[in-house]
Amino acid sequence: TLSFRNVWVEYGNQVVLERINLEIASGTFLSIVGPSGAGKSTFLRLILGQERPTQGSVLLDGRPFPAEPGPDRGIVFQRYSVFPHLTVLGNVLLGYELASSPLTARLLGTARKAAVEKSLALIEAVGLAEHCDKYPSALSGGMQQRLAIAQALAKQPRVLLLDEPFGALDPGTRAQMHALIKPLWREHKMTIVMVTHDIKEAFGLATRLIALDRPRKDPQAPERFGARITYDLDLTRDSAVPV
Ligand code: ATP
Ligand code: MG
Repeated sequence: TLSFRNVWVEYGNQVVLERINLEIASGTFLSIVGPSGAGKSTFLRLILGQERPTQGSVLLDGRPFPAEPGPDRGIVFQRYSVFPHLTVLGNVLLGYELASSPLTARLLGTARKAAVEKSLALIEAVGLAEHCDKYPSALSGGMQQRLAIAQALAKQPRVLLLDEPFGALDPGTRAQMHALIKPLWREHKMTIVMVTHDIKEAFGLATRLIALDRPRKDPQAPERFGARITYDLDLTRDSAVPV
């Protein structure tokens, strides 16, 4: 379980997130929606460990996260989250190497052989088997996103963070990605937290949906109030609970 306990994030005198209390059960597919600037990426960075709350805490199974972003968390951005100087296989292999030896990031001998085999299986699972030796520049946008997902999964993360991962894709490729991600989520039994602007996508994939928004209490000084969770929907049940 991932817990947000009274989490605030402030930059100078700008409040970004305010009083966030949330429990995300392991295995949840959580979608986050909200207007631009609401703090959705900030929310993901808190889970990743790249951002510290000004107040409150973010806990995994009741314990604080290690200060360093660990291999137990993987992230995929809207674009550019793969390494251009590594091939498809090289990118996924790096995911395994980072997960098993973050300091040297180099596997040798039988460990490397096993990692190559697992990488090839993941590449196959995301439909890139024929493109193993290509560099990202030779792949389409959708293929690059599939590669980014394979690389993130290679870390065997307990929590996979997706920041508008399909936002830059055409509708057909998007539909392909939707068909890909759900079985991967089931098979790897991980928690997914996905930011999206596409409400249909959220409803189609997620088991829970939250909305982040800033109250319009004071239009002259909107930055004085941070975003809070304004909706929390259990999509497995059909119930809408305004917070
Ligand atoms: P979008 O939908 O456009 O991606 P978002 O919901 O992801 O928006 P964030 O990127 O989390 O929004 O940013 C939330 C607010 O925090 C913004 O007002 C932004 O200006 C501010 N912010 C984020 N990072 C920093 C930073 N390092 N320093 C100062 N302000 C920041
Ligand atoms: Mg963002």
